[in-house]
Formats: sequence, structure tokens, C-alpha cells
Amino acid sequence: MAALIPTLRPALLLRSPIRPKIKPTTIQCLRHASTKHPKNFTPPTQEDLEDLRERTIDFARREITHDVAQTTDHSNEFPNEMWKKLGSAGLLGVTADEEYGGLSMGYQAHCVILEELSRASGSIGLSYAAHSQLCVNQIMLNGNDEQKRKHLPGLVSGESIGALAMSEHSAGSDVVSMRMTAKERDGGYVLNGTKMWITNGPDADVVVVYAKTEPEAGSKGMTAFLVETKSAGFSVARKLDKLGMRGSNTGEIVFEDVFVPRENVLGEVNKGVRVLMEGLDLERLVLSAGPLGLMKAALDVTLPYVHERKQFGHPIASNQFIQGKLADMYTKYRASSAFTYSVARYIDEHHDELSDRESVGRIIKTQDCAGAILYAAERATECGLDAIQCLGGMGYMNEMAAGRIMRDAKLYEIGAGTSEVRRLVIGRAFNKEFGVK
Ligand SMILES: Cc1cc2nc3c(=O)[nH]c(=O)nc-3n(C[C@H](O)[C@H](O)[C@H](O)COP(=O)(O)OP(=O)(O)OC[C@H]3O[C@@H](n4cnc5c(N)ncnc54)[C@H](O)[C@@H]3O)c2cc1C
Repeated sequence: MAALIPTLRPALLLRSPIRPKIKPTTIQCLRHASTKHPKNFTPPTQEDLEDLRERTIDFARREITHDVAQTTDHSNEFPNEMWKKLGSAGLLGVTADEEYGGLSMGYQAHCVILEELSRASGSIGLSYAAHSQLCVNQIMLNGNDEQKRKHLPGLVSGESIGALAMSEHSAGSDVVSMRMTAKERDGGYVLNGTKMWITNGPDADVVVVYAKTEPEAGSKGMTAFLVETKSAGFSVARKLDKLGMRGSNTGEIVFEDVFVPRENVLGEVNKGVRVLMEGLDLERLVLSAGPLGLMKAALDVTLPYVHERKQFGHPIASNQFIQGKLADMYTKYRASSAFTYSVARYIDEHHDELSDRESVGRIIKTQDCAGAILYAAERATECGLDAIQCLGGMGYMNEMAAGRIMRDAKLYEIGAGTSEVRRLVIGRAFNKEFGVK
């Protein structure tokens, strides 16, 4: 079956008339190489993005049907065969270099894919994002050539599954207070501790893990590591049972004297907080496309229903109360979508100004990335609730998607930082501009 699926990557990479590749000279590369984009990145055109959206919709129609989405939710189990399907369709390495099998297309493209996958299934969208943004993109941005060569081809093809582990039981919003330690020994580090709520944790082969290399130095003593889960001492304590995103496997993972060789340090020793914070901005931006997909899914289920269902002799959509809900749902989706894509577009189109670290905060604005997901996440939960209300009794039934959409949407107000923390970081970003603590 998988062999019959027309693959996206070759189609996209071969379509030179649509998206001509300009081969930059070595000097241009040195001068303009973005620290946040793949090599030789050129921003996609709107036509490229529409093409990508159509192909992703096509993939989702074929592989993530209503039944697949429902079973994934009801069974509390990610369909693991999906990884290779996503990989052979070229969807797993959208921000990765072509030499590792990636699409080299940037953040707008990543949002398009996540939006359309989430529209089909919030759970599959979330697991996809943890793999392709939290893991693959972190390795792209912070890995050295050897780490990329070793891990990216498998992650991009779907042979191996990725995750990112920073949260702990006692360190969620205040993640920098994490307790996991990494002590230097025998040419590497020995990791001890537990990570909580890790998306793809029960299935992952490669995990980006944050630990304290110098606990007494606080945020200045944190380092990021690439950990292979086949390492001795790694285990999954339990798979968690959740309200929503039920098909996205979430786990508590344990590290007991896990030896990680020095070459698996991601970025610099004791500079993990920079990797984490810079990663968080892009993570929030890309993840804001998850709620976009869920809002679209809410409209997908609500619009036909209210136009077909009759009460008092008329379609229920003839009632102004229902029209008001439809108008609000649609407007919330459109406003959230405009926010997310304008931020992603700005970052993609200013890629050549991201060549030095100093300009990163000017192009990738914390308040924009946090704002995009803050707004979209809360609107998506509202749209999920409106969908249930518009469907009446059927909206409350698990055979319909409305309840699942609402339960899935709520996660985006919590994961990747809560709504409260997003408001807090937006406020702090303004304080920083005005030199106020
Ligand atoms: C399904 C799921 C998947 C996840 N996936 C991952 C993953 O892949 N990797 C990973 O590392 N983590 C993951 N997480 C963890 C997630 O990032 C944390 O749950 C989140 O950051 C919140 O932390 P917490 O749960 O400890 O809540 P807490 O920090 O205990 O917060 C509880 C409440 O207090 C509020 N609060 C806390 N501090 C403040 C403050 N200063 N001001 C105002 N309000 C405040 C919060 O907003 C929240 O409402 C996942 C979580 C879930 C539920």
C-alpha cells in the first residue's frame, strides 16, 4: 500500500518550474546562511505552499480517515505504521536539509503540514509536531554534521521516532528548575532523573533531553543531549491516560545511570538554556498550526450538520443563534490563521538576516510566537465547544468528531507552555524592550 502512495518529497523537489532553486555562491552562503533555516533555503512562494497543502490534504484523506482518527482516539494508541507513511510522503523533515532527506522548506510549510494533519486527527498532528519540530528541527538547528548525518535520515524517513524531554513532575512551567542531572564520567555523561508528559516518549528511538551538568549554576548549568532509548538504563515508567490527544502516546520516562557519550551533547555544554529558549519560540509558532487544524475540523463537522439537520421545519442553520456561532468559529479560525502565517512568513522571508545570533530576537519575536499559539489555542477550544453545541445531542456522542476536537484543542492551552506562561512571556518581552524587570 505504502509503495502506491505518490510521494510528496520527490514531487516537490522535482517541480523546478514552480520553485526554482537558486544555487548560492559560497560567499553568499557564508554571508547569509540562516541559523534557523536549512542550507540554501529560499522562501516558498504562495503557490508552493498551496501545492504542499493540497498534497497534505490528499495524504490525510487517504491515510487519516475519520475511522483512523476515531480509532486512534478511542484506543489511546498512536498507529505506529503512520510514521513510515508520513516519512515516505516526505512530511517528516520539512525544515531539514535536502541532504538528509528533508524538504528544506521552512516554517510556513511546517505550519501548513501540521494544520492539515491536525485537521484530520489532533493526536497524529501532535505526535508529528513533537517528532518533526521538537526533535528533527532541534537537531537541525543545534546538531553538528556528525549528529545530523547519524540521526536525521532515519527520523526523516520515519524509520526512527523522535521526542523532546524537558518537563519533569516538579518542573513544568518553571522548567529551568529541572532536577535531572548529567555527571561527567569516562568521556561522556551519566544521566539520572525522570521526565514527565513526554510526547512520543513510549515509542521514541531518539530523545532530545535537557539535564543539569552544573546543578549549582541554575539555568547556566543546563545542557541538551541526544539520547538513544536503546541505551542501558533508559525505560518508560508508564504511558499516560489523557483527556484528549489520546492517540498521541505520552509517557513518563526514566533515566537510571544512562551513559551518553560526549559526542551526543547537542550544542554547547552548560548552554542548554539557550537551545531550550530559542527552540521554544519556534516550537510555539509551529505548534500554533495544531489549533488551526482543529478549528478547521470543527467547521468541517459543524457546517454540513447544521445545514442538513432540520428542526421546526427548517435547517438549524436558519436560526440566528446558530449563524452567530458559525460566524464566530469562522472568524476565529481566519484571525488565528492570519496571525500564525504572518509570523511564519516574516521569519522565512527574513531568513538571510538570521545569520548571526544577535538578530534572532529581532526576527523571531517571542511575543509573536507566544501570541500566535496563545490566541489560536484558546480560540480552538471555543470552536470545539461551539461545534458540540451546534450538533446538540449528537455533538455529545463519541461517534462524532466534535467532542474529540474539543478535548484535543484543550491541550494546546497547556503543552509547550500554558496560556498563563505565554501571557507572562509576552509581558516580559515588552518589559525587556523598556528596560523594566
Ligand atoms: C499531552 C501533553 C504533552 C506534552 N508533551 C511534552 C513533551 O513532549 N515534552 C516536554 O518536555 N513536555 C511536554 N508536556 C509538558 C508541558 O509542557 C507542561 O505540562 C506545561 O509546561 C505545564 O507545566 P505543568 O504541567 O507542570 O503545570 P504547572 O507549571 O504546575 O502549572 C499549573 C497551573 O499554574 C499556572 N502557573 C504556573 N506558573 C505560573 C506563573 N508564574 N504565573 C501564572 N500562572 C502560573 C499554569 O499556567 C497552570 O495553569 C506535555 C504536556 C501534556 C499535557
